[in-house]
Amino acid sequence: KHQGGGQAVVCTKELSEESQYRMLITNRMTPEALQKEFSLLFQPQCETGSGRITGVEALIRWEEPENGFVSPETFIPIAEQNGFIHPLGDWVLREACKQTVEWAADGQIKVAVNISPQQLTHAGFAESVLAILKETNFPPDSLELEITEHVLALHMEEARTQLQMLRLNGVRIAIDDFGTGYSSLYVLQSFPLDKIKIPREFIQNVHMNSRKQHIVQFIIRMADDLKMDVLAEGIEVEEELRFLKEAGCRQAQGYYHYHPLNKNQLKQEVTG
Ligand code: C2E
Ligand code: CA
Ligand code: CA
Repeated sequence: KHQGGGQAVVCTKELSEESQYRMLITNRMTPEALQKEFSLLFQPQCETGSGRITGVEALIRWEEPENGFVSPETFIPIAEQNGFIHPLGDWVLREACKQTVEWAADGQIKVAVNISPQQLTHAGFAESVLAILKETNFPPDSLELEITEHVLALHMEEARTQLQMLRLNGVRIAIDDFGTGYSSLYVLQSFPLDKIKIPREFIQNVHMNSRKQHIVQFIIRMADDLKMDVLAEGIEVEEELRFLKEAGCRQAQGYYHYHPLNKNQLKQEVTG
């Protein structure tokens, strides 16, 4: 009991340090910072057979002058709470389109962009995406939006309206982190979607874990039957890749092939 009291003090201190950090981050998240301190990296998505790059996922980075690198896992949830996700999300989409369209003379590379639930359920989201595509001269069928199943399950009607308009215009929709929510299959039967992304949790050491093997094989087979694309995320070692190839998964993304690259590194890899 005596020690318990002491630990409670430490815990309070840590909590306040964390909330201080969050407050600081919140105050530094400004439209000016967005122009100067944020950047995009692009992680290639590859054919499992040939290793050829078929697309990229845009991933945001923030180098804050005083605190250094801040992880998106830290600042995206804050931005989702305080509304900064809207200017941030528009910036990501516009930059991703601009940075890849300028060197993609013969054939635009497919670009996947992460979309937060607050963006998708915002009235006018689809229109704003289509406006950015037009403004950047980016072909709609080369854009893929990555959304999680939670938002589809919780906000069916809003999501349906937005997704219908986007897909009518050729934009593709992928489910990110498939199978980590509580309504994965329900979402699949309710929405027409283009791609399933199998999360790293299921892929990590899949060659050594028969439970994961059954799950991954099931997802791949189901995606095939539903005429959807399927991509495995977070592949780090050759054994994982080998299992996926044998299971019939044709697309992969992970450190085994590429870490996230900046615009110039990506251009180098794609155009040689
Ligand atoms: P996510 O969408 O699941 O993105 C994949 C994350 O896994 C990225 O982390 C990527 O760098 C990392 N990763 C890729 N391959 C491997 C691998 O082989 N091994 C391991 N251990 N990790 C790998 P990152 O860039 O730190 O992003 C974290 C999360 O932040 C993303 O998860 C996504 O949910 C969110 N995020 C990133 N950029 C954006 C954005 O522009 N908008 C929104 N709304 N969310 C974003
Ligand atoms: Ca993603
Ligand atoms: Ca993911």
